[in-house]
Amino acid sequence: MSCRSLGAHPLIQYFSLSSTDPIEPVDLVVFAAHPDDAELNCGGLLLISKLRGWKTAIVDATQGELGSLGTAELRREEAEQAARCLQLNSRFNLGFPDGDVRDTQENRQTVISIIRKLQPKLVIAPPRDDHHPDHSALGQLIERSFYLTGIKKLCPEIPTHRPNALLFHGGTRPFEPDAVVDVTPVIEKRKEAILCFQSQFKPKEEASGIRIASDYFMDSVEGRLRYFGSLIGVPFGEPYTSLNPLPVKDLVAQFEEEPWKAR
Ligand SMILES: [Zn+2]
Repeated sequence: MSCRSLGAHPLIQYFSLSSTDPIEPVDLVVFAAHPDDAELNCGGLLLISKLRGWKTAIVDATQGELGSLGTAELRREEAEQAARCLQLNSRFNLGFPDGDVRDTQENRQTVISIIRKLQPKLVIAPPRDDHHPDHSALGQLIERSFYLTGIKKLCPEIPTHRPNALLFHGGTRPFEPDAVVDVTPVIEKRKEAILCFQSQFKPKEEASGIRIASDYFMDSVEGRLRYFGSLIGVPFGEPYTSLNPLPVKDLVAQFEEEPWKAR
């Protein structure tokens, strides 16, 4: 089966560090349903990975046009600003309809194409069960597409690439993490990236009852990071789940750093 294009929706590139190579390979790709989901859930991992020299990208599925606050155009500008803040190598938007993300044959082809072109080692997806149906649907779509990226007869015009691992970020349903990333060194920058989406945080009069615009929202983001950090003995931790046990090369080195130590 051929993937004639990236599906029915045009691929929008928000941002690229490279002016010559629009889709350069990266090491880590975070898929997110709406612009700001990646910042809210994986900003720390993206920043820490960058510090360690890995190339990073975000692929937003929708433009958030159904959001109660802001417009698609405004969120595009904010997404570009946040991409700079996170020092991403690139950020793309698949142009799926907001509120109607689905696991379809066509959307799988789109996901397969972008994964093959970006050639990441690690893919992060939203949880497959969450309060927002777009998050759950995208998690399921990425999980199924992940395996299919390695099937040669699907989209034969693009060389196959199956990433080494797929992990899921935390969501709004209770869950047990399989990995917690210490994001303490980048906590301020992580917050700055979230606050790039100013349209989502104000004005308060219009935003009554909206989760993200609540006075308590940023406190709850910090509270979660503090809770998951406490599980590994660091001030701030970002949780991830995995369908398989995480491989470890050196178990002693993994625990080199003393927990609960001021750094
Ligand atoms: Zn979302």
